Amino acid sequence: MDSKQWIENADQVFMHTYGRYPVVLDHGEGVYLYDLEGKKYLDFGAGIAVFAFGYGNKKYNDALKEQIDKLIHTSNYFYNVPAAKACETITKITGMDRVFLTNSGTEAVEGAIKLARKMYYKKHGSADGEIIAMNHSFHGRSMGALSVTGTPKYREPFGGINGILFADYNNYKDIASKVTEKTCAIIMETVQGEGGLNPAEKEFLSKVRALCGEKEILLILDEIQCGMGRTGTMMAYEQYDVMPDVVTLAKALGCGVPVGAFAARGEAANALVPGDHGSTYGGNPLAAAAVNIVFELFKSEKVLENVSRVSNYLTRAFDNLVQKYDCIKERRGLGLMQGLKFDQSVGKIIQTAMEKGLITFSAGSDIIRFVPPLIIKEQHIDEMLDILEESIRENI
Ligand SMILES: *Cc1c(COP(=O)(O)O)cnc(C)c1O
Repeated sequence: MDSKQWIENADQVFMHTYGRYPVVLDHGEGVYLYDLEGKKYLDFGAGIAVFAFGYGNKKYNDALKEQIDKLIHTSNYFYNVPAAKACETITKITGMDRVFLTNSGTEAVEGAIKLARKMYYKKHGSADGEIIAMNHSFHGRSMGALSVTGTPKYREPFGGINGILFADYNNYKDIASKVTEKTCAIIMETVQGEGGLNPAEKEFLSKVRALCGEKEILLILDEIQCGMGRTGTMMAYEQYDVMPDVVTLAKALGCGVPVGAFAARGEAANALVPGDHGSTYGGNPLAAAAVNIVFELFKSEKVLENVSRVSNYLTRAFDNLVQKYDCIKERRGLGLMQGLKFDQSVGKIIQTAMEKGLITFSAGSDIIRFVPPLIIKEQHIDEMLDILEESIRENI
């Protein structure tokens, strides 16, 4: 069967929750993906900021195969070595004290919300602690994570949990005005991803940090997309001299194996006790082995150095594009998490680029988002720019 037939079949049985590209991906190698017919795509999407090392990395694949042959799952009634190692590394890179491994980013956010509510409950004996979240944020699709996601249209048909207030990102006054006696947490992405590749401003984040300290409010930083080296430092908040109380991770944490984490420090690290939270699959040895090899590869492949170097190159190239094309309003983002904001919707440009063999995503309707594997080189950026410029010219 060819791609067209598979797509027809899939459309009969998939719930229609996504506007998918008419492409059936089959395999990958390095920074390239191939569809069923063997057509090659340069991947500047990385499965939504997931595949830090690209596809088919031998050390990564071998580590997983080895773990598959040993043990995949134990349940959390037992200890396993890969999970112990993974959590130790996560505490080191985040500066947190304790970690809970989840199966996705959404679940990491869900856990962070529960942790904040539990801290409040311990102090006040009631579960009505309030959480301040940001407009245009994205934290996931479960009822809790959705409740702190700042896009009203995603929440509207579903309602959500009580006690969530929204404030404008990078607007300290707005946040401060929403703090009450009941506020137990402030949650935000260090760099907003879906919301438009929008980094927190330094002064804003340090003021929020100070406010949280003063009022005993937990600062939860969602680093699911911007963490794990994407902005040039392991955690994006390292560039801000700010330490959160709770951190969420996923996406490149497993580089393709579904795994996430929430980590906390101080009193917050001990807020959840037996019976408060759990997961059948969370922290299974296979997912944990993925986390461990990911951290090893970050070191051995010198990923952070590469991100710093090529992201400077990318930034210069995009700044040139902004000069060159009136339809591009600005460049946004940090490191290898960048976007180009257009004065029009970008669907057609993305579609044309896809036909020409370049994968990108949108963020909102007018931004093209570039979140490539972290191992890309300058030559891949040049190749991307050629296709991108052709696609822009054909659509404006
Ligand atoms: C992707 C994302 C999530 C949700 O992660 P899933 O693994 O899709 O559940 C949450 N927060 C941010 C910032 C994200 O980018």
